[in-house]
Amino acid sequence: MFKKILIANRGEIAIRIIRAAKSMGIDTVAIYSTADKDALHVQLATQAVCVGGPLPKESYLNIENILSAAILTDAEAIHPGYGYLAENTKFVRLAEQNNLTFIGPDPEIIDMMSNKSKGRDIMKRHGVPVVPGTGIIEDVKDGLARVIKMGGFPVLIKASAGGGGKGIRAVYHKDSFATEFDTVTKEAQSAFGDGSVYLERLITNPKHIEFQFIADKHGNYVHLYERDCSIQYNHKKIIEEAPCRTLKDEVRQKMAHNVINAAKAMDYVNAGTFEFIMDKEQNYYFIEMNTRIQVEHPITEMITGIDIIKEQIRVSAGHPLSIKQENVKPEGYSIECRINAEDPKANFTPSTGKIENFVVPGGFGVRVDTELHNGFVVSPFYDPLVGKLIVHGKSRLECIRKMRAALEELTIKGINTNIGLHYSIFHHPKYVEGNFDTGFLTEVRGQPEGR
Ligand code: ADP
Repeated sequence: MFKKILIANRGEIAIRIIRAAKSMGIDTVAIYSTADKDALHVQLATQAVCVGGPLPKESYLNIENILSAAILTDAEAIHPGYGYLAENTKFVRLAEQNNLTFIGPDPEIIDMMSNKSKGRDIMKRHGVPVVPGTGIIEDVKDGLARVIKMGGFPVLIKASAGGGGKGIRAVYHKDSFATEFDTVTKEAQSAFGDGSVYLERLITNPKHIEFQFIADKHGNYVHLYERDCSIQYNHKKIIEEAPCRTLKDEVRQKMAHNVINAAKAMDYVNAGTFEFIMDKEQNYYFIEMNTRIQVEHPITEMITGIDIIKEQIRVSAGHPLSIKQENVKPEGYSIECRINAEDPKANFTPSTGKIENFVVPGGFGVRVDTELHNGFVVSPFYDPLVGKLIVHGKSRLECIRKMRAALEELTIKGINTNIGLHYSIFHHPKYVEGNFDTGFLTEVRGQPEGR
């Protein structure tokens, strides 16, 4: 097993990985920016190295400084977390050239899947149902011609390099196609450095269902069932739950079969997620694959009792998975709320400031993964996700009750947060009934500005 790993990330996920490593007796190296010198991940790691200034490109995306930190501290492996360099194959290849193990799949797989249009083609080849759509479209004329072939509007214009809900627009009529095409292309070019787009049929009122799996180098593939991530705003997930209460078992089995077959066909090693959207009749379609740990992984951990980060580290070190498919028996229900430093009343504007009073909820089956602590300064440089509130219970209703209580206990003074929004969702009859799809929050709150 590794003696020491470097965590190329910050915030709650860096802390999460440090904790997993500690439970395995592995030393950790944290990296940090000058803005993060008092951050919790820095205090919790065995060692910490400052890798640059506050802007991500100066520090958490600074490949040279991060690799130097790993080499100088004798780390053997790097866990990238999510975001930042987790899907940057230049980083992965350079790490490997320096004898550092990247805790994630092979760079070839990351490259294939980070282009969503290519990812769709590969899944089609491996027998996974894919949303009807196109490859890269050349221009407006080409796009309109392909819409006709697809059977008309509505369609989604999607950036091939998109992620985090950015670079997606719905088009309902040919008159707005040119404007929306232009908007997505420009948005994608500036956010991802790649303006290429493709089209997908817009599935109306779908659920977002995703399947977690993990594989080792010994040919063992295990899926960890599904998550329902349909509570979204502006295509961004806010609440996730596992399992999906309404998913028919036969559909669940079919999805699992698709996931394991495709992962095997790709010789995939490490953790990954297949994302699907599912219509009212429970027809499901692949939309993208994430080749890294995801924000919402804890709900799967809560129902399966499996520490996914620990398994990632094990398989990267060449060990077999510590679990077999027949022993994965999901128990009860789990829900996660993403706690964001933002103001839902002001179009989700990010909020910054010093944490004055932080009270963490607790109790049986309550888990809080967060970077917050009293005196910590939430700075404008990083993602607004500052923590995750996760509950586990025997039933969905028990989870809802636990979440209401936990949200009442959770106190964060000094910044604006979305705690109030979560609280209102957990009291909304449609949510409580379990009767919701990806349109739920837009219905409740109205269209986001600029849409
Ligand atoms: P990102 O990589 O930015 O997360 P995704 O392709 O995963 O983008 O899509 C984000 C969300 O947009 C999905 O969870 C779903 O709510 C919605 N979405 C994506 N594709 C479709 C589609 N073809 N029809 C309807 N909704 C979709």
